[in-house]
Amino acid sequence: MPHRVPVAILAATGSVGQRFVQLLDNHPWFEVTALTGSERAIGQEYSQACHWILPEPMPAWARTMQILPTDPGLLSTPLVLSALPADIALEVEPRLAQAGMVVCSNASAYRRAPDVPILLPEVNPDHAGLVAHQRQQRGWSGAIVTNPNCTSTGLTVALKALQDGFGLRKVFVVSLQAVSGAGYPGVASLDILDNVIPYINGEEEKVEWETRKMLGVLDGGGISQANFVVSAHTNRVAVSDGHIVCLSVELGQKATLEEAAQCLREYSAPEPSCDLPSAPHPVIALRTEPDRPQPRLDRMTGKGMTTIVGRLRPDPIFDFKMVVLSHNTVRGAAGGSIYNAELLYKRGYITV
Ligand code: NAP
Repeated sequence: MPHRVPVAILAATGSVGQRFVQLLDNHPWFEVTALTGSERAIGQEYSQACHWILPEPMPAWARTMQILPTDPGLLSTPLVLSALPADIALEVEPRLAQAGMVVCSNASAYRRAPDVPILLPEVNPDHAGLVAHQRQQRGWSGAIVTNPNCTSTGLTVALKALQDGFGLRKVFVVSLQAVSGAGYPGVASLDILDNVIPYINGEEEKVEWETRKMLGVLDGGGISQANFVVSAHTNRVAVSDGHIVCLSVELGQKATLEEAAQCLREYSAPEPSCDLPSAPHPVIALRTEPDRPQPRLDRMTGKGMTTIVGRLRPDPIFDFKMVVLSHNTVRGAAGGSIYNAELLYKRGYITV
């Protein structure tokens, strides 16, 4: 495949970085040509430097790749997929954009910047238009585009379907988040086994804010946040992968249970996101069994890119309540960034 876009993966040894490597094996448009890591890993072969934690085997092409420093001067790919910790992303990602690279980032460092989109292609592909403004504003030819925190991802997809159908007024959320969301090695086993930790630093603020940015309106040089309120409790639970969100929602206008179900079931990704290589099929899987979705059984629906909704029922305080499941390292992280990159490539923002 000689014409694929060369891609660098930043922080390729971590939980999200490994997902990038695994998901980009045989990608039809992108070819990994550089992997970066921390001081500890630089100069080693990827198979030496990386403690591989995925059930899928490490792709053969990755095993012997040498880990590079995360130095914009040494990277020259048009596309960079970043799994950097936020404090490092804060410093490095603008330098990469300045050097002409398009950075699709998992880090939270720039999500709140007015000229940086938080993109979910099946929800707000028009927000990619902010890249043109960002380039003009910052005087660079690259770009920074982010995906949201992994808890907001499935939540926002489900809310988008309801927002389109009926509008939104109030959303109350309780998350049950997998340990892989904290990276590797993440939470100590003796802290999480037989336990629930009712605090994840900064997560509630992210869920309450990022959701409204993604569901807001592109308005010239920024996004007007959606006009509804979110209240979030976030918890870490002893699940390996897959974040559950239990939510209650008050709609802008009344709907029957069947109308709400139909809205969720029939939601589809708008053009041009629906036929990209990583597009979820279906976007939302609506389960009707009383005890689904469950992380272990359902997280790989649609190759891990589908948002799974279940237990849709009336809510005695708001209008409806339901359970949403999304795979945090696939749809909520690496798969989401790749999907964003596909959208940007298709729209002509990445040139080889
Ligand atoms: P992680 O497992 O802790 O991995 C972080 C990686 O960054 C480690 O492999 C570390 O290498 C590497 N690193 C540190 N400094 C570096 C540098 N200067 N250059 C290159 N690599 C460097 O964390 P993660 O879960 O993959 O998360 C990565 C990012 O994605 C974070 O910003 C996180 O907030 C975000 N995110 C994560 C998820 C998720 O579900 N996990 C979801 C959405 C967003 P060493 O191992 O050598 O220290």
